[in-house]
Amino acid sequence: MKMFLLAMLCATAGAASADADQAVVLEGARLIDGTGKAPRENSVIVLQGDRITAVGTAGKVKVPKGARVVDVHGRTIMPGLINAHGHVGLVADGKNKADAYTRENILPQLVQYEQFGVTSIMALGLNRDLGYEIRDEQRKGGIPGASLFLAGRGIGVPDAAPPVPVAPDQVYRPQTVDEAVADVREVAAHHPDMLKLWVDDIYGKFPKMKPEVFKAAIDEAHKNKIRVAAHVFYLADAKALVSAGIDALAHSIRDQPVDAELVKAMKAKGTYYVPTFTVDESAFVFAEDPAVARDPMLPQAVSGDLIQQWQGAEYKNKVANDANTPKIKAALATGMKNLKTLQDAGVHIAFGTDSGALPERIPGWGEHHELELLVRAGLSPMDAIVTATQNSAAAIKATDRGTLEPGKRADFLVLAADPTTDIRNTRQLVTVWHNGREIAPIISAAAPAPAK
Ligand SMILES: [Zn+2]
Repeated sequence: MKMFLLAMLCATAGAASADADQAVVLEGARLIDGTGKAPRENSVIVLQGDRITAVGTAGKVKVPKGARVVDVHGRTIMPGLINAHGHVGLVADGKNKADAYTRENILPQLVQYEQFGVTSIMALGLNRDLGYEIRDEQRKGGIPGASLFLAGRGIGVPDAAPPVPVAPDQVYRPQTVDEAVADVREVAAHHPDMLKLWVDDIYGKFPKMKPEVFKAAIDEAHKNKIRVAAHVFYLADAKALVSAGIDALAHSIRDQPVDAELVKAMKAKGTYYVPTFTVDESAFVFAEDPAVARDPMLPQAVSGDLIQQWQGAEYKNKVANDANTPKIKAALATGMKNLKTLQDAGVHIAFGTDSGALPERIPGWGEHHELELLVRAGLSPMDAIVTATQNSAAAIKATDRGTLEPGKRADFLVLAADPTTDIRNTRQLVTVWHNGREIAPIISAAAPAPAK
């Protein structure tokens, strides 16, 4: 019996490595490479293991002998989505819970992101140390789902932002500069992929982080070669953060129009801007827009109970009577205008949703919806795609992905329709490829391939 098992294990291992050695060629698709270049018609993309080895036009690229050839005529290929601001382990059973940051809860969330075509996710703060174990195990090949990047716990404010029910070991809340420096040193020992700060009074409800605290945290993080992203709302705070060397503003500026001073500073420092319209819109859209609440893709991402609840009178009244709702709508409108201004001015825009932070910010579904919101704000579909691929990779310094070029990770989506003509076509997933492996999407748009 033992011998038999051993033989089986060996056979399985042999088969897996033979598989990994076999090159894969996807032939015939329209290819969007994530750089913003015009799509390439009738493309060929060659994969070996988890990497892309060649990209070109069919007939002009040498196809390795013995390769598995996949016919993708009529399809469009684009890089996998990279969410530079999401979360894991904060919501369980449709609710925010202080005990939700568990392995049992996080692993299915990573799978959900991946099945919607989000191949990498930066969990931007509120991570327990368990996150590092999961990340490191995943990097050794042990855990499926979207590639997890971590901004550790993050630095908040005592009894203030972030006002979410999390366990004490999910966020630092330093009182002083010295405590903030000590917290950054502690997090540095875990080798986070980024650090998160919260600089906001949450519609006037709480005291904000003091500038000397965020300056000290940013300086200490940079001494440890850690990039820093900040939750932000106000233009004045954004300016102070950019001047202090923040690497990314992790939400829209929503109190007033951005100005030339901010644009100049962000361009000079190469600061990234991550709008996350989902944060604002998700506070009211399910109560107010039946087309969104009845989106056929929604039940694949969130429970039917929750969708039903959002369409019920109690929830609708709660949203309608919340004194913050008009403020949030105004904030969203300002944020949308600011994105267009910053994009036109040439500021680096990356992509995020804050998915996973609250039940209404929905992993996987939210990323496709956010792309639509970017286009509604005035970005071209191609620009929206570039923010969610090349630019997000750069924002989180995941330089091995984000574009479809030789040497990059084989992370891409095969779509039944072209998202540069209608951004909603990112939802037309036929297959998701992640680290060179083919994954079935959560809903397949795979009607039979169109005739050649
Ligand atoms: Zn967040």
